[in-house]
Amino acid sequence: MISQEDRIPYDRPNCSKGYLAGEPASPWVWLDIRSEEFYNWHHIERVNKRVAVLDVPQRTIQFDDGTTLKPDKVLVASGAVPRQLDVPGANARNVLLLRSLSDCNAMIARAGEGKKAVVVGDSFISMEVASSLANRGVQVTIVGLDTMPFAKVLGEDIANLLRKAHEAKGNVFKLGRTVSRFNGGEEISSATLDDGTTVACDFAVVGIGVRPATGFVKGAPLNPDGSLEVDGKFRAAEGVYAAGDVARYPDPHHEGERLRIEHWRVALQQGRAAARAMAGNAKPFDAVPFFWTEQCGMALAYMGWAPAWDEVIVSGDLSKSDFVAYLAKDNRLLAMVSPHSEKLSAFEELMHLRRLPPAEAVRGKSQDEMLHVLRAVEAEGVVEWV
Ligand SMILES: Cc1cc2nc3c(=O)[nH]c(=O)nc-3n(C[C@H](O)[C@H](O)[C@H](O)COP(=O)(O)OP(=O)(O)OC[C@H]3O[C@@H](n4cnc5c(N)ncnc54)[C@H](O)[C@@H]3O)c2cc1C
Repeated sequence: MISQEDRIPYDRPNCSKGYLAGEPASPWVWLDIRSEEFYNWHHIERVNKRVAVLDVPQRTIQFDDGTTLKPDKVLVASGAVPRQLDVPGANARNVLLLRSLSDCNAMIARAGEGKKAVVVGDSFISMEVASSLANRGVQVTIVGLDTMPFAKVLGEDIANLLRKAHEAKGNVFKLGRTVSRFNGGEEISSATLDDGTTVACDFAVVGIGVRPATGFVKGAPLNPDGSLEVDGKFRAAEGVYAAGDVARYPDPHHEGERLRIEHWRVALQQGRAAARAMAGNAKPFDAVPFFWTEQCGMALAYMGWAPAWDEVIVSGDLSKSDFVAYLAKDNRLLAMVSPHSEKLSAFEELMHLRRLPPAEAVRGKSQDEMLHVLRAVEAEGVVEWV
């Protein structure tokens, strides 16, 4: 198992959440996915080096120290690289990106009571960073292109909840804006926005998305976004497989449409599926996409995949964070969102079974009635929709 990071695998999502927020826990219990002994016990040899080149047709790996490996099979699960803003000053030492634990520790070293930070981007990661920095007493200004962060993903009502939670924590929004330059030398002291206003800061964090980390992959066609195209067994080429953030795969829940999903659980599920295929024991991949977010005391879980929807059906009390919501298109349920992840399990099961009811079955229903509809289909296969 090759990684350029100099430690055992860890809980990456924690790097924008509890760990960054300074929640008390010992870092090793908190972050490590498995103990050092686990890898030894299972004879998993770890190599902490950077791969400079993977020659796909030859199936050879060249490390940046010049050494090489020639495996029979390779899984490319190299994740993604954060995008940097292409504006003057973006290369300054205190304009930070977040992908790894060491990026996270660099941010923690700059955070502290009364410090000022500009967070660029209104993605899940950047908003979680804004929340966690606020937890450390940092005064955060969020600069985002959207006029309402998350409205396109979760609908206006839920997006508004998240925005209010940030504002209640003291975070300030500059929306519909971007940064046109950072001011200072090796260390910036302010950011100028595209409306000409300037925001003072001790450091900035740029969270405007990622690109697949495939710069070292040679001799295989890459998609325009840098991802690797895989088949239903996560095979990209003879003996070469790809999974996680780098892979564009045929999704069984969307008529084989090719998706690239940047979710933690999806990466774990794809890794398992690819490993089975590499061991000659492939099974059809049928995972339902799932992710969660935690911001300013609010947690949200999201099951399914709804890049475009025409209806958000909400039931419950948004102000008490007690609700379930469905994203639907053309009367078809695509995704379910709730602060209570346990409420998503029936939806997941029905998506597996391809037996989700139409949107009209849950429209206008109370939370309990909605869940009853799902559980009834799950249990009996029949239900009165209306
Ligand atoms: C801060 C943060 C918070 C997140 N929060 C959530 C969340 O709440 N929910 C959610 O669903 N998802 C979340 N994600 C996304 C999730 O972490 C990713 O989808 C997931 O980690 C992808 O797994 P992966 O195995 O594809 O890549 P990674 O986890 O990125 O692992 C790739 C590994 O390969 C190494 N590598 C890359 N190139 C090379 C090379 N040339 N040589 C050697 N090693 C290399 C990398 O350093 C890394 O260790 C978050 C991501 C981040 C960064």
